[in-house]
Amino acid sequence: MSQINKFYKNLEKIVKTGKTPHIITSGQGAYLTIKGKKRLNFCSSHYLGLAVDDRLKKAIKKAVDIYGVGTGYRTLAGTHILHVQLEEALARFKKAEGAIVLTGGYMTNCAAIQTIISKEDIVISDELNHASIIDAIRLSQVQNKFIYKHKDTAELEERLKKSVKMQKTPKKNGEQRLILIVTDGVFSMDGDLAPLPEIVKLAKKYGALTMVDDAHGEGVLGKKGRGIVDHFGLHGQIDIEVGTLSKAFSVMGGFITGKKSLIDFYKQKARQFLFSNALTIPDTAAVLEGVKILEESDKLVKILWENTHYLRREFKKLGFDTGQSQSPITPVMLPDEDLAKQFSAKLFELGVFATPIVFPMVPKGKARVRVIPSAAHSRKDLDFGTQAFAKIGKELGIIS
Ligand SMILES: *Cc1c(COP(=O)(O)O)cnc(C)c1O
Repeated sequence: MSQINKFYKNLEKIVKTGKTPHIITSGQGAYLTIKGKKRLNFCSSHYLGLAVDDRLKKAIKKAVDIYGVGTGYRTLAGTHILHVQLEEALARFKKAEGAIVLTGGYMTNCAAIQTIISKEDIVISDELNHASIIDAIRLSQVQNKFIYKHKDTAELEERLKKSVKMQKTPKKNGEQRLILIVTDGVFSMDGDLAPLPEIVKLAKKYGALTMVDDAHGEGVLGKKGRGIVDHFGLHGQIDIEVGTLSKAFSVMGGFITGKKSLIDFYKQKARQFLFSNALTIPDTAAVLEGVKILEESDKLVKILWENTHYLRREFKKLGFDTGQSQSPITPVMLPDEDLAKQFSAKLFELGVFATPIVFPMVPKGKARVRVIPSAAHSRKDLDFGTQAFAKIGKELGIIS
């Protein structure tokens, strides 16, 4: 067999063991239609229900009628007035000096790190950071990277001390090595929060830059859903705030907020910005409307949190272990991987869609079904979901 044949044979063998995702034939509201049946949408990151919001739909139709669809390269002929308005709106929303919008959270993390960090700098990263941060660090080709135990600020401080020692040797060009501390804001598997106040304190003490990925915090934490920096009252004290427009904003794209000089630098130098097309007109118009909705009222954020507290109370009453979450992310712990898969399959039969989370997304022995309520759910929807959990939990002997 030729090498190329072998290559394809091997791929076939590998993909056979993978799973194919369900195909959804409805919008992403409180319910999803899958295989012709309505099922409770119990694990999406559309925290505020904006994926099917009428105002967003209207804003898109209006913008498309006027401007059409496509844009272009931001640095060539693709910077549309809507992009500028969106960046201004996001900067205001995050109470920052400036904002840059890219076409995905993943891309944004890559831009945020790669553009400012070079080989000889130093990056210190939480072990549970999102894959896009891990890849962003790789892309920067930084040689000195330290991974600290999840939220372990004592270990972080040790790493900082070591980094400061390394700074004694300058880079080849004579400049001092930068130190960057990077963390998720809300950790997506457990829903716990980064110890940002302590991180900021340590960063100041040792002269490090700070970066937080607020993908699961935007639209969720802080006043009017401004995110984790607002939640901790740390405006102006985190150098690089990364956000995604695909979770609470329910569209697509990502953005960075920070000091004006930093944002302008990204706009001139970030490869992900220079060599990839901009957000389309409908995407941009939709997010602009989403920011407007949040600025106008905290109604959706309040409903999201009421739903979160209600859901957690109900799960606890039933006897489920829902971990240590401080956000709407609600892991229902089912230590056994097979049990988690079985649980999710049985939920599906009962009309509830919540996917199992198993190794390697979480460590072995920490399998779970991850539930995420949204502002689109009514009490009745949440009751429908928890009743299905109760029935299956008893059936499988997880609760009594
Ligand atoms: C979802 C997510 C991303 C990726 O965002 P996309 O807009 O989907 O590319 C990045 N970081 C974290 C922490 C996320 O949860």
